[in-house]
Amino acid sequence: MTGLMEGKRGLIMGLANDKSLAWGIAKACAAQGAQLAFTYQGEALEKRVRPLAEQLGSEIVFPCDVSDMDNLDAAFETLKSHWDSLDFVVHAIGFSDKSELRGKYVDTSLDNFLMTMNISAYSLVAVAKRAAAMMPDGGSILTLTYYGAEKVIPHYNVMGVAKAALETSVQYLANDLGPDNIRVNAISAGPIKTLAASGIGDFRYILKWNELNSPLRRNVTIDDVGGSGLYFLSDLSSGVTGEVHHVDAGYHVVGMKQEDAPDI
Ligand code: NAD
Repeated sequence: MTGLMEGKRGLIMGLANDKSLAWGIAKACAAQGAQLAFTYQGEALEKRVRPLAEQLGSEIVFPCDVSDMDNLDAAFETLKSHWDSLDFVVHAIGFSDKSELRGKYVDTSLDNFLMTMNISAYSLVAVAKRAAAMMPDGGSILTLTYYGAEKVIPHYNVMGVAKAALETSVQYLANDLGPDNIRVNAISAGPIKTLAASGIGDFRYILKWNELNSPLRRNVTIDDVGGSGLYFLSDLSSGVTGEVHHVDAGYHVVGMKQEDAPDI
């Protein structure tokens, strides 16, 4: 199967390096013929993002800090100077002060609560509004979430609350943008070792627990996420919107420790 994304143009937001979930999705889309543009946050990341974009044949690479609405407007103006329309967007962005991604949720500070909500949840709304204006023929918007939105995961804390807001935003955005044939969905990915994940307390334990207790008895990879991302961004999922789809080796259906899982 090739050419699924032929003629489609997509913006990838949230690429940090070749471990990023956004990289798995970008590779899968490019392999099917998509043309891609990339944003990066801050100059330090440009050095990593530009060569990766070039590997996928893209020279459209520009900065965007989603916490700053002027910056976001400028980024979309830059995109418009290259493309007059857009078919899809990947929003793979989350951030919280790592000192609050350990210990107790009850200790969350107001400043970090607001910052985490802004960058990790509101930014999808802000991106969707600007992207929709470039989607006259419809489109697909995809974000990334985690099971910590549904159930308590130790240390995930305020990020779990932000992901819950993100998942509900997916539903409200799907309803608002549906009449324009713009679909909005989320992938709830299992734990994967990335730069963002390294900020979460005891992340190695979470990885091991998921590996031993998920139905598939393994962790997912960015290529697993890429394959499912391709489905959401292509016309294969043309009838699907407002969905939170688990790509987690089935972990979310399990209610207790597996009998064959050793103690860790
Ligand atoms: P990553 O570190 O590779 O990507 C996170 C990205 O967020 C980075 O590119 C960073 O630059 C960007 N970002 C942070 N603040 C920003 C801002 N103000 N403006 C613009 N960009 C900003 O890590 P990742 O794990 O690939 O994370 C991508 C998404 O996947 C996040 O939403 C994360 O919560 C989600 N996710 C990750 C996992 C996991 O286990 N790694 C599991 C489920 C969901």
